[in-house]
Amino acid sequence: MLPLIYNNKKTQYIMEEKEKKDALESFISNTTKNPPIVPPVDEGQNGGYGDSLNYITVDLSVLPAGLFYKPGTTIMIRAASVNEVQAYSSIDDKNYLDVTEKMNEMLSRCVKIRFHNGMIGTYKDLKDSDRLYLIFMIRELTFQKNSNLAKDVTCGECKHEFKIQFRSTPGKDSPKTFVNYEMDKELEPFFNKMDRTFDIPIGDRMYKLAPPTIGIQEVFFKNIKDSVQAEKTPNVSFLKIIPFTLWDRKTITDDGIKAKEEEFKKMDDMDTFLDLDEAVSKMLFGIKELKMSCPVCGEEVHTDMTFPKGASSIFKRGTSLFERRAKK
Ligand SMILES: [Zn+2]
Repeated sequence: MLPLIYNNKKTQYIMEEKEKKDALESFISNTTKNPPIVPPVDEGQNGGYGDSLNYITVDLSVLPAGLFYKPGTTIMIRAASVNEVQAYSSIDDKNYLDVTEKMNEMLSRCVKIRFHNGMIGTYKDLKDSDRLYLIFMIRELTFQKNSNLAKDVTCGECKHEFKIQFRSTPGKDSPKTFVNYEMDKELEPFFNKMDRTFDIPIGDRMYKLAPPTIGIQEVFFKNIKDSVQAEKTPNVSFLKIIPFTLWDRKTITDDGIKAKEEEFKKMDDMDTFLDLDEAVSKMLFGIKELKMSCPVCGEEVHTDMTFPKGASSIFKRGTSLFERRAKK
């Protein structure tokens, strides 16, 4: 039998000492005061709510797009409050835009970001590819006792049937199981360590490309939604590539998008478009799959990153009230 070794070192959290104080007290008062549910917060530091809950610092090297934050950037997260879990639970699993909006709303409340120069950002500065990973980190902080959310798998080697937990960090009864996409080998030589971009010469100019922020993706999602409502066909190829050229921004106006779209349409060189499309297609960052060693034979077992019970199940307890009662 192969030994089961899990690398916990990289996923350790560092507690912010000053923020530990009175956390329990504020948690209790925050929950009993029943604050109203308000729209996503984008006003920097305090976010106006729940700021005194424990924040922990995220090790950027575990995030799918951790490499794309400039050196000195700090991302902190805290557990979700009862009200935030309630707001999330109203998610419409069949509506991709609603799922994304609800996740962003959760991030707007439970994440803080600080840049190397001391400036405070918002959830809009986070990379879009890190959304789901951070959501799971928050989930694991929120449900420390009863966090089971798992998929049934069968070991290809010994046919043992077991469950793989969804874990972005190691837990009491499960190792970390998330596996991120790795950087495409062909992109590596173009990586600019200062700007955290891929600098690729295409046509007669140098393109700087990197995974877009949540802020930029929100604007583009809204743009797609508006075109569909206005019964216009969204320019899909444009909408796929342009966000990667806006890597250093967290917003763009409607006129800004129009200008970019015009610039893009004028691109008379077909090769330039095809090269850009190829480069962006290689920039796949996010959670690739779940992986765990079979508890019987030690063989690695993989399963895809889909939610059998929908995205709304992320902030539900793994075992329901009734399952827990039945066990007693
Ligand atoms: Zn096995």
